[in-house]
Amino acid sequence: MLRIGSHVHYDSKGGLLSCVEETLQNGGNAFMFYTGAPQNTKRSPIDLENVREAKERMKKAGIPLENVIVHAPYIINLANRKEEDKWQFAIHFLIEEIKRVDSMGLSYLVLHPGSHVGEGYEVGVKNIVDALNQVLEKTKDTSVQILLETMAGKGSEIGKTIQEIKAIYEGVHDTSRIGVCLDTCHLNDAGYDLKDFDTFLTDFQKDLPLSIIHCIHMNDSKNELGSQKDRHENFGFGTIGFDTLLKIVYHPALEEIPKILETPYIHHLYSPYQKEIEMIRTKKFNSHLFDQEKSLS
Ligand code: FE
Ligand code: FE
Ligand code: ZN
Repeated sequence: MLRIGSHVHYDSKGGLLSCVEETLQNGGNAFMFYTGAPQNTKRSPIDLENVREAKERMKKAGIPLENVIVHAPYIINLANRKEEDKWQFAIHFLIEEIKRVDSMGLSYLVLHPGSHVGEGYEVGVKNIVDALNQVLEKTKDTSVQILLETMAGKGSEIGKTIQEIKAIYEGVHDTSRIGVCLDTCHLNDAGYDLKDFDTFLTDFQKDLPLSIIHCIHMNDSKNELGSQKDRHENFGFGTIGFDTLLKIVYHPALEEIPKILETPYIHHLYSPYQKEIEMIRTKKFNSHLFDQEKSLS
């Protein structure tokens, strides 16, 4: 089953139901959302009646729950313990976020591992591991898995290589609740040449099992291989290219993993996702993507 969708808009009013509706409008059967603004930690309580309705809609449309991914806000930085209260706040927020994900009956929370902000890689990894162990311990009555996202290596980001993800994974006591989220733009910008994707998978398996990958962010990149920039481009319009990205979407080893588009809005206004999902489903590149002024926003 091809599991394809995009990042979708979430607010406390529309809730999970509006995420499902946006996904269906775009022709997707998977989606990812933030439980509030991605750049802050203000969160409203989850409306469980809305969640119930959303799940009914999903059932009718044949969308399984494992196709739904939550992304933790990107300001959470578990690697930085320069200010103890901020680090403790990040841990506390993550615990609450896992409870929210669990209350919706969902399983996957994507997390940026963190940036060491000058403290050095080793200290950063230790801080992440210590934080994750606390978070997992305090949420052990849930089965929510934290998916560590592979990063572009911008600034002092940790997680720009599979070895760095592995270092975190190996420090965690309960690895059954740790997984990985690949991001194709980040991998490219970190220096992994995805044109030879089989080699990438072979190398990945030298460090970690493929079975812990539960989400793939399908983004093209505005920048060259190894640029460490992290600027997403629309599907097929960047330096990775349509054929390489399509090969990853349809790779038999990753068949059951949800693929999520996080590509930019056209002219900052129009959602590209319906057209991009169509390109992926039909396996045909649409060079007119940017002409689509009428695309659903
Ligand atoms: Fe991310
Ligand atoms: Fe991503
Ligand atoms: Zn990114």
